[in-house]
Amino acid sequence: DRTDFDFDLIVIGAGYGGFDAAKHASLHGLRTGLVESNEMGGTCVNRGCVPSKALLAAAGRIRNLSDSNHLKKFGIQSGPVKFERQAIANHASQLVTTVRSNMIKTLEQAGTKILKGTGRIQDLQLVGIREKNGVDRLYSARNIIIATGSRPFIPSGIKVDGTTVFTSDEAVRLDWLPPWIAIIGSGYIGLEFADIYTALGCEVTMIEALDQLMPTFDSDIAKIAARKLIHGRDIDTRTGLLATRVVPGMPARIELTSRINHTLVEELEVDAVLVATGRVPVSQNLNLEKVGVQTDRGFIPVNDKMQVISKGKEIPSLWAVGDVTGKMMLAHVAAAQGIVAVDNILGIKRYIDYCSIPAATFTHPEISSVGLSESEAKKISVEESFDLGTVYSYFKANSKALAELETDGVVKLIFRKDTGEILGAHIYGLHAADLVQEIANAIANRQSVKVLVNQVHTHPTLTEVIELAYKEAMQVVEKVGIANG
Ligand code: FAD
Repeated sequence: DRTDFDFDLIVIGAGYGGFDAAKHASLHGLRTGLVESNEMGGTCVNRGCVPSKALLAAAGRIRNLSDSNHLKKFGIQSGPVKFERQAIANHASQLVTTVRSNMIKTLEQAGTKILKGTGRIQDLQLVGIREKNGVDRLYSARNIIIATGSRPFIPSGIKVDGTTVFTSDEAVRLDWLPPWIAIIGSGYIGLEFADIYTALGCEVTMIEALDQLMPTFDSDIAKIAARKLIHGRDIDTRTGLLATRVVPGMPARIELTSRINHTLVEELEVDAVLVATGRVPVSQNLNLEKVGVQTDRGFIPVNDKMQVISKGKEIPSLWAVGDVTGKMMLAHVAAAQGIVAVDNILGIKRYIDYCSIPAATFTHPEISSVGLSESEAKKISVEESFDLGTVYSYFKANSKALAELETDGVVKLIFRKDTGEILGAHIYGLHAADLVQEIANAIANRQSVKVLVNQVHTHPTLTEVIELAYKEAMQVVEKVGIANG
């Protein structure tokens, strides 16, 4: 009986995961409460995707207008580019306000009840909420979704003061432009901010603990992309070194230690340090252990329906979505998981196909990927004994890229040689974030290049680079077909 519970569903955390779950549930008739202790919208809206992309949009324009050689090829003469830091920062913060208020309006229209305060799992169908004024409330719910997200990981020895040593939480505010900034980490957040800071005239030193820059990317793509995005921007790099001590101040001090033998290698004095060393789940104060849920270093284990797993068994009323599950820590994944959880609560069996979800880094140019990495695909090809094909298709032969004078780019396609099924794709180049979607759709539908090769692409567009990759892959598949008779 519905009236047994205060809510059909309570969602804890109003980031992208919580927002989409609450909206979907409310629109499908569930009496839904959404608990948020901070600003509505979570990481993505307030200090992640949204403000960072606004800063990158400004950075891209400044970069184009400052590249006089590039402009000269179009016959355009340009003078020195002037910009106002505060105006760029305002563009980002206004965008945050707009997106956040649209979100709140959407929830109100859907009928979601917003519950301000810090939530905890009092029991498997009971949520405790501590409001800012110290008042505690208790609500029963037939189902609970945890969507408490993540926060920056700060390695021990690094002291963050938010002014001279900071994380992306502060960097998105663009409070000042340090003449020389060290960025610790060459993952997507480090790369995006390196793009922003170099466009705005800051000197950047990038520190990476592993021996290769951009270790989370496909290694071929990383090498090609680093040529322009890192070395081409005169970014000074240090690899194989751990920042074991970082002290804020004017200057901020960094101690770099060898990852291998832990000896002190170098000390740097810089104007600012951005710590971009990954993110950790926010699950510590949820009372999870008390209700029998054991986390994996803070990440909440879930089954493919997004139901929380405890001691190998799922808990029927408890669900978790988004960064706190550690699956693919991206906004669109959090949102998709939120909808999948609610659909399962509604009795519609659904799961997430992570292999067809794309990811992108919004540097200039962009980097994107979908499906398996080459090493993952290799492992599966050995286990399932099929041959793996890899082809590359380059932007430099593409008419649109040539017209735009943006020929630095490549599409790498990984596929089964026997069936032609696409297993993964990695793209570097202009609009890579948009381009990857068509391959993602193909992977979602388990399509073979045998079918995709006949799909006509608009001329002249960058999508023809993908069309060419399909054709190259088709040649490989046909050769195998002929060899096998
Ligand atoms: P979050 O967005 O972290 O939201 C969790 C919410 O829960 C927060 O509002 C928090 O206050 C609240 N909360 C936590 N505990 C409690 C509690 N006990 N009670 C009540 N409320 C609580 N992803 C992309 O897909 N594309 C991008 O371009 C992109 N760019 C990014 C750039 C940066 C700089 C960063 C940091 C991240 C970026 N991401 C991007 C990642 C994206 O922001 C996250 O994957 C996404 O926000 C995860 O959503 P979530 O709902 O899981 O959690």
